[in-house]
Amino acid sequence: MPRPFPLTLPQTETLVAAGHPTPFHLYDEAAIRANARALTAAFAPRFPAFVQHFAVKATPNPFLLRILASEGFGADCSSLAELRLCDLAGIRGRLIMLTSNDTPDEEFVEAARLGAIINLDDLSLVDPLRAALGGHLPDTLSFRYNPGPLRDGNAIIGKPEEAKYGLTRPQLFEAYRRAAALGVTTFGLHTMVVSNELDPAYHVETARMLFELAADILRETGIRISFVNTGGGLGIPYRPDQRPLDYDEIARAVRAAYDAIIVPAGLDPLALHMECGRCITGPYGWLVTRAIRHKDTYRRYVGVDACMADLMRPALYGAYHHITVLGKEDAPPAPAPVDVVGSLCENNDKFAIQRLLPPIADGDLLVLHDAGAHGHAMGFNYNGKLRHAELLLRPDGTVVEIRRAETLDDLFATLPLADLPAFSV
Ligand SMILES: *Cc1c(COP(=O)(O)O)cnc(C)c1O
Repeated sequence: MPRPFPLTLPQTETLVAAGHPTPFHLYDEAAIRANARALTAAFAPRFPAFVQHFAVKATPNPFLLRILASEGFGADCSSLAELRLCDLAGIRGRLIMLTSNDTPDEEFVEAARLGAIINLDDLSLVDPLRAALGGHLPDTLSFRYNPGPLRDGNAIIGKPEEAKYGLTRPQLFEAYRRAAALGVTTFGLHTMVVSNELDPAYHVETARMLFELAADILRETGIRISFVNTGGGLGIPYRPDQRPLDYDEIARAVRAAYDAIIVPAGLDPLALHMECGRCITGPYGWLVTRAIRHKDTYRRYVGVDACMADLMRPALYGAYHHITVLGKEDAPPAPAPVDVVGSLCENNDKFAIQRLLPPIADGDLLVLHDAGAHGHAMGFNYNGKLRHAELLLRPDGTVVEIRRAETLDDLFATLPLADLPAFSV
């Protein structure tokens, strides 16, 4: 089952009365910390070195990044803003990995300023990186591998062959030779081939693929890979009938692959890096919204005060997010299913389609589960929708606002409104 919402109906109503109007995102700090520790406990003791770079795009909030940094996590960035957020949160140096694509110069410069590991998406980026850094490459450089037809992707990320990311195998060998010739001394190998995958075997296979490739690279070029980064993509059980991944089971199998491939290849000690986002915060964040309208036409619609601008995954991927009606957790479902909709002028603005839920009255609070990653972060302003607040439940039971809700003034702040009265048409 999706994790229960950590507040009761009266506690949630108190929050709202205290000035946190719906919709809002709530994150559970204690649960995020416990989960971060479980991942580290599974992997860190089994490898010569282990770094988990939290994928900042999952929840780009520096308060959450600081919590994860205090648990020993680094960060995976793919934009200038994400690099700056790491700097604000105190994550610097090789704890940051820049894995961007179509990378502008300013990202290379900022990553180098922070001492981040730069992970190049293509051979054609070697020269622009060198130019951006004033004619030299960093000592450490990593490349992103795209296995193409050798691996199946899944519904969210698509097939590797059709993905814009990464280098082909022949390009990868050329890239390491080129980087070595230009003075790079420490090499990393990265891939990210799947998203929200709940099959542990898939993740083990990704590590095995990189281990074999690292062994091939050593054999064919003499270049030693010092770390492999298996990316993110660990799935979470969005649906009540799904089960969470067992970190320990994956770590044990990845270590077995390490013993079978890395040790005999003479590549031990090799560091293992990961870039999990979704599985770290996803189950420990909820979107709280209020039912405000209902209508009955060809079906029953429950209208809430959030919309797909607050949580885009159902509209974008047809993703399932479990819904709890606060105070009606144990109530039997209404006789007919409902569509739970937002107010956007888009018919795919639906959080649930033909879902059996308890009878919902206007004013009821609805909780959308597993919204703690790629949730608020994917928000947008279409139809002039204002982005909602993010709240954090601290381990002592208090709730703090870690991002306020946007106002209309925020939304209009980039318009030169002072020029409008005199503007002639
Ligand atoms: C999105 C992304 C991640 C994180 O993926 P999750 O599915 O959230 O674990 C990691 N690495 C890269 C390069 C990404 O683009």
